[in-house]
Amino acid sequence: MSDLFTTITTPLGEDLEQPLGLFINNEWVKTDKTFETINPSTEKVICSIYQANESHVDLAVKAANDAFKSSEWSDLTGSERGEILYKMYEIIKRDASKIASIESIDNGKPYHNECLNGDLVESYEVFKYYAGWSDKKTGQLIGSQVLGKNKICYVEPIPLGAIGGIVPWNFPFMMMAWKIAPALATGCTVVMKSSEITPLSALWYGKIALEAGLPKGVLNIVSGFGKDVGSSMVNHPKLSKIAFTGSTATGQKIMESAGSSNLKKVTLECGGKSPFIVFDDCDLDLAVEWAFGGIFYNKGEVCTSTSRFFIQDSIYDKFIEKFKNLTNETAIVSEPFNEKCTIGPLVSKLQYDKVKSYVEIGQNEGAKLISGEFLDGPGYFCKPFIFIDCKDEMRIMKEEIFGPVVAITKFNNVEEVIERANDTTYGLAAALFSNNITKAHKVASKLEAGMVFINSNGDSDIHVPFGGSKMSGIGRELGSYALDLFTENKAVHINMTVPFK
Ligand code: NAD
Repeated sequence: MSDLFTTITTPLGEDLEQPLGLFINNEWVKTDKTFETINPSTEKVICSIYQANESHVDLAVKAANDAFKSSEWSDLTGSERGEILYKMYEIIKRDASKIASIESIDNGKPYHNECLNGDLVESYEVFKYYAGWSDKKTGQLIGSQVLGKNKICYVEPIPLGAIGGIVPWNFPFMMMAWKIAPALATGCTVVMKSSEITPLSALWYGKIALEAGLPKGVLNIVSGFGKDVGSSMVNHPKLSKIAFTGSTATGQKIMESAGSSNLKKVTLECGGKSPFIVFDDCDLDLAVEWAFGGIFYNKGEVCTSTSRFFIQDSIYDKFIEKFKNLTNETAIVSEPFNEKCTIGPLVSKLQYDKVKSYVEIGQNEGAKLISGEFLDGPGYFCKPFIFIDCKDEMRIMKEEIFGPVVAITKFNNVEEVIERANDTTYGLAAALFSNNITKAHKVASKLEAGMVFINSNGDSDIHVPFGGSKMSGIGRELGSYALDLFTENKAVHINMTVPFK
């Protein structure tokens, strides 16, 4: 094996061939610098991978632009692109357990319950879904019955060109799938940057591209840091769009730079502080069940986590008791390959320290901590934290912690809870529990969020648009909506008065 690959032996005893280089123009590329990626369960280095700089971004962007113009890619019909996407679906499905292992080692998320049966399923299904869309975005004819007998017009959706994708560390492989699949379905070409915290699974897309027969340059992967690799993508004049998932602070910087470079399009999927509202006319056991996953799935490292609970005062004590009991029973904190694990280690030392500081802040602010503790290392493990009797002005009620910490408060009536739930700069998701269908729909319509869950929580469905309002983002991923954001409409006006010869 060359030094472009290494063998990673998983805790299940399987040897996996992990690429280490950048992936540009269908080739693995070495650079003169490497960086380490750490296993959060052991705090040990997994391996070192090659680190890109601005010149590698240039190379990748050139490759993507050349590919966009090449006949091997641009002459393909929609259904031919769909066949390649379908091959990618088949390969990811076949290799799901391998990729899930890599993801679990690099990120710490539970292998069985989340990586294999969650992220990987959604990732390959996204490729299958967009394989089907590849030949269905056909445009529009605006005919003479509308424009008058002397004119017709056709509107064709045109791929944006070479686009850039930047992803975070919480769903590394899946966030890439959400961007790569619709981009390729529409005929764009792609430069993707993984998160420096979890760079390993991203490189498997290089293997998948080669096996699926993607023409060279159509998909390129660069590993590295936000401040140089990410920002040189955002500032690059030859990328027509940045599809970004990450924090609101980074999203704001990206929007500024994208505007001042070449006015590239941006879609931003950013942070959240989503409310979880429980009315006293709901099925309480159902609410408690969904409450757990809504905040503690993926160790709370989920953008749509419902991290602020609003419980109606008449059922407040009962809810807290049931939720605390369920959390103690269900939160199996362990190394992520344990079949029973529901909560793996936090992703990094940085994230562990951030959660620690918020737990201290919550205590100093006077919220009552009724559950949760940090465990001895190695590994960034903790039992989930439940704060009750929180006040809206507390920082743990306002700021995105992005860890297994929930802040619970009570409310009295519908108008009050809507106002308090909406009193945030974020607007990603919201969940509400009530058996009164009229009330549920009315409240849903008033909540300022891109996604509202009624009697459920955190569902993500590839057929349905995903994204936020307010400072949680711009644009939507998934569903047919994503396709619109990788294309622009070209209108061709045809003068019908040209005389016959
Ligand atoms: P982050 O913003 O720090 O980093 C995200 C990505 O942006 C990384 O790849 C990073 O290298 C890159 N980056 C950093 N600075 C950059 C810059 N100046 N220019 C270009 N790229 C830059 O976020 P994170 O800590 O990796 O992820 C956690 C955040 O992501 C949370 O706020 C979470 O809510 C959000 N998130 C949102 C969604 C969603 O769909 N709305 C999904 C997952 C995560």
